Amino acid sequence: GATLGLMGGGQLGRMFAQAAAAMGYRVAVLEPQHGAPAAEVSAEHIEAPYNDADGLDRLAERCPCATTEFENVPAESLRRLAAKGTLTAPPAHAVAVTQDRNVEKHFVESVAGVPVAPHCAVLSEEDAAGVDEALFPGILKTARLGYDGKGQYRVKNRDELLQAFRSTNGVECVFEKMLPLKLELSVIVCRSLTGETKTFDAAENYHRNGILAVSVLPARISEAIAEKARAHAVRIADALEYVGVLCVEFFLLEDDTLLVNELAPRPHNSGHATIDACVTSQYEEQVRAMTGMPLGDTSRHSSAVMLNILGDEWFDAENRFRDPDWQAVLAVPGAKLHLYGKKEARRARKMGHVTCVAPTLDEAFERARAVARILGLPDPE
Ligand code: ATP
Ligand code: MG
Ligand code: MG
Repeated sequence: GATLGLMGGGQLGRMFAQAAAAMGYRVAVLEPQHGAPAAEVSAEHIEAPYNDADGLDRLAERCPCATTEFENVPAESLRRLAAKGTLTAPPAHAVAVTQDRNVEKHFVESVAGVPVAPHCAVLSEEDAAGVDEALFPGILKTARLGYDGKGQYRVKNRDELLQAFRSTNGVECVFEKMLPLKLELSVIVCRSLTGETKTFDAAENYHRNGILAVSVLPARISEAIAEKARAHAVRIADALEYVGVLCVEFFLLEDDTLLVNELAPRPHNSGHATIDACVTSQYEEQVRAMTGMPLGDTSRHSSAVMLNILGDEWFDAENRFRDPDWQAVLAVPGAKLHLYGKKEARRARKMGHVTCVAPTLDEAFERARAVARILGLPDPE
């Protein structure tokens, strides 16, 4: 088979490469870090920065198509690959939209016609001084490069907003109203080269310290809300003329209003459960979409509760370093362990995940609680 190009060497790339290998493809990865999780399972590792002209040209020479696993691969790099005749999924224009929260919100609301949180752009101190009083209390987010809640400031009033904006050294920001969330949801949508779309069931997501901790598939929401979320995701993918796998994060408010939080132009942490709970995983869909194959069946054969495993789990109550008890984890029925092969466990670093599958969500929760107890994690609810 052909060689598929991959931009970014993290765990999402590793699981993509594993899906690609299962379908007979070789993967060439462009990633500056030696021994990165995806590099270890790829046929070829081009050790260069994501914007390195020489590295990009080498990738383009080998690969008829390429994808990304990291949302901050410069859109310009994807343009360079495309100019060399390598099809990129996602396309550069779609990635460019998602790399700036102000551009993204404007696109989702005004082009795709899907509602987002009340917000305004804050590009200067004058903007901060002039924001609508109705947006307080709110969250100031840097427009670019934030993830896992980094670059976010919760502010109660205008003084705090000005202070927060100054602390970013004046980079472009967006200011959003703080909303009463009932649930956080995500829908993964895949769109083929011919414009065919498929969505996975919505997942329900829980964060700890700004990092996804637990994902529940399917989300415990009404059929009407689930359908609306899937329809919104498809509208956005169509409006973006997207190719590949796109994650749409939603807020479900106390009054059942459904708003888009943000987009991730790649497979997503909340989609890990699709590996073990669905006929086709989000990673296989990425392979199919970029190679011009028909998209796979996204239906779910099991219910699932996914627990992220962070480096913190390597430290016991006395802060001593030791390996978690995988023997005990794997003795739990339906527990599927995924480790990313990272060289060093550090607190807050995503090291792996466990997906607990079962015929019903109640049983999946029971199994996930058993795993959580072994790993010393809080009970998923
Ligand atoms: P990710 O790791 O998902 O990329 P991120 O750093 O891009 O995260 P967001 O998804 O924008 O950040 O926000 C992180 C979390 O903060 C959300 O999942 C949600 O829990 C909370 N949050 C963000 N915006 C709001 C809001 N307007 N109202 C209430 N809570 C919010
Ligand atoms: Mg984000
Ligand atoms: Mg988010």
